[in-house]
Amino acid sequence: MQDPWLDKIDADRFRKEVIAWYRRHGRVLPWRNCADPYRVWVSEIMLQQTQVATVLGYFDRFVARFPTVVDLAAADEAEVLHYWQGLGYYRRARNLHQAAKKVVQEFDGCVPTEPQELRKLPGLGRYTANAIATFSSDQRLPILEANTIRLWTRLLAAPGDPTKGTLNRRLWNLSEEVLPKNGCADFNQALMDLGSEVCTARNPDCSKCPLEEFCSAKEQDRATEFPQLPKRPTIVNVDHVAIVVRHRDHVLVRQRPDAGRWASLWEFPTCERDKSETWEQAAQRAIDLAVQTKETLAIAEHLVFKHGIMHFRVTLRCFKTTLRTKLTSLRPRSRWTPLDELERLAFSSPQRRIAYSLLENGR
Ligand code: SF4
Repeated sequence: MQDPWLDKIDADRFRKEVIAWYRRHGRVLPWRNCADPYRVWVSEIMLQQTQVATVLGYFDRFVARFPTVVDLAAADEAEVLHYWQGLGYYRRARNLHQAAKKVVQEFDGCVPTEPQELRKLPGLGRYTANAIATFSSDQRLPILEANTIRLWTRLLAAPGDPTKGTLNRRLWNLSEEVLPKNGCADFNQALMDLGSEVCTARNPDCSKCPLEEFCSAKEQDRATEFPQLPKRPTIVNVDHVAIVVRHRDHVLVRQRPDAGRWASLWEFPTCERDKSETWEQAAQRAIDLAVQTKETLAIAEHLVFKHGIMHFRVTLRCFKTTLRTKLTSLRPRSRWTPLDELERLAFSSPQRRIAYSLLENGR
């Protein structure tokens, strides 16, 4: 039995409106109209939790360096992370790399296009597997992600949490039932673009929406009441301290642990400031993470900026110290690196900002 909402509307006209809008206003993106499932896959992983505008620069660089799944599988993880640095959520890059190896070992280097096979790869859930299959080979498969969830919950004026339970199942079923017989890639992309460009989270532009006449939330003047997502955790303020320890044209860097946030990425020694200590005391503690010294090093403030990680708002205060004599009692995973080689290391976005500040001003 199909969804009762579909019984109430002229579904063929709905589909025609969606496609007609897409022909005029759909976004032109480098991974669209592409029959190569590898490129679609890379784009979909990059787009998780990340805006299209951000992904655009990274995607071209990544696929230029790793043009096939075989190239990606053969690369060192450090290099893969290097090409991912700044995109955040590095677990995505690690899973992609592991999955590429699995494709080479188990699928003879051919990215599968069946969703059941795709879902055996690390990091691929129902949405991503269906997206790869439908976008690269036009299969008749539903997709449901943040943009289409917003669009559907408004079209239906559907109360409740759309990310789980009955409503989530209903939206998946409806997304499948509404698909046209052919041209599902365009249809699915059109729905995503409508959600992203017209039915936006804060200011849905109903006057420009081709689906206005089908929309229950618009009819009830309640568009921004949907979707009814669970409340986000409260933002917590934290302070981080980083230290640039420099000797001539070398700086001290440290590789983060292999698990946890920013696993295996490089950083200038950094710690979280305890509210009971001064920034300077925290900076001395950060030095101790990378090198043993009995001296209290003279430090000066170098850079302060704020950034966000999940539900944390981080104030990062970076200090610097210049040594006449090189300290040699390095802690494990720490090393002196020439400034010229900083660009070859994979840093998280905030740490990369420190690295760039040194490269621009400090040579
Ligand atoms: Fe979204 Fe408005 Fe279109 Fe409804 S009419 S789908 S609320 S943009």
